[in-house]
Amino acid sequence: MDITGLNKKELTELIQNPPVDLGVEAVRVKTEHYGNRVFARGLIEFTNYCKNNCLYCGIRLGNKNAVRYRLSKEEIIKCCERGNELGFSTFVLQGGEDTKYTADDICDIVFSIKNLYPDKAITLSIGEKSREEYKMYKSAGADRYLLRHETADDVHYNRLHPKNMKLSDRKKCLYTLKELGYQTGAGFMVGSPYQTSAELAEDLLFLKELQPEMVGIGPFIPHCDTPFGEFSGGGIENTLTMLSLTRLMLPKALLPATTALATLDSENGRKRGFMAGANVVMPNLTPKIQRENYSLYNNKASSGNEDAAEIEHLREEISSIGGVLDMSRGDHCSFN
Ligand code: SAH
Repeated sequence: MDITGLNKKELTELIQNPPVDLGVEAVRVKTEHYGNRVFARGLIEFTNYCKNNCLYCGIRLGNKNAVRYRLSKEEIIKCCERGNELGFSTFVLQGGEDTKYTADDICDIVFSIKNLYPDKAITLSIGEKSREEYKMYKSAGADRYLLRHETADDVHYNRLHPKNMKLSDRKKCLYTLKELGYQTGAGFMVGSPYQTSAELAEDLLFLKELQPEMVGIGPFIPHCDTPFGEFSGGGIENTLTMLSLTRLMLPKALLPATTALATLDSENGRKRGFMAGANVVMPNLTPKIQRENYSLYNNKASSGNEDAAEIEHLREEISSIGGVLDMSRGDHCSFN
């Protein structure tokens, strides 16, 4: 099933009425490029300070109830050492846009991890920065960068973000990251306030244009201390449909079964993600005491198979659906 030539209207109809075998088709396409492997990345949520005020996010600047923390370089390295012991070959450093860390600080952290583990891949996910900063991180050893576009529709973007944030800036960052040679991750929330199927179709068309190596897709889940606290969240089915359609749009992409998906259905969320075409999982390496404070949305899962320490359970879960947990770097197949 080739959807790469469909226009916005056709994609919108597909989103509204997905064929019953969409997941099967998505898994078939994934298998062609990556077999039955599911790649693990160790996630380190190293700061929840943020200068931004995204209306959906629990760590937004305006949330005075958020308990703020940031990890020191030494603490971050400890997380990597723990991850190394558990067998991880790649780490994702994610945080709010914390102005306390200068570009030099981030480079120092990346460089120190690379110095300790030259063969491991490092992903940064710390928001919108200048081209110069992205270049510095790359020189320090960063391999990948995650920056979800959140929604590819301008009007919708403006409803989810304060006036000082623009979709054009975010897109520019993504193109810069691609150009600098990062394995680049875009992505969006499903079921965010005011979202329509036509906007989800635009997300697919934007992915087709950008050709990112990774795409993070998860349901929107409300956080009570945000302006969107009373909105309803995104559904599992719609999220799985978008995962599968993204797989068909970008057959070689690395697509995580996200924590938000697992939060909606702790028993089966991740498994259903793999069966819809996902091939990445990002267990949490953040120290337990800080973990609950990285609260992007209410009831965020961080224990059980979302916990890096439980990697053997995750391995069993993945084999139960015929997959194999793969602890290698898990580069995009065009980077091998
Ligand atoms: N500051 C970094 C990391 C942001 S947190 C950056 O800008 O890239 C990572 C992702 O969590 C966001 O991109 C967003 O898509 C998701 N997120 C934030 N709030 C959420 C919510 N209420 N429900 C679901 N996902 C959310």
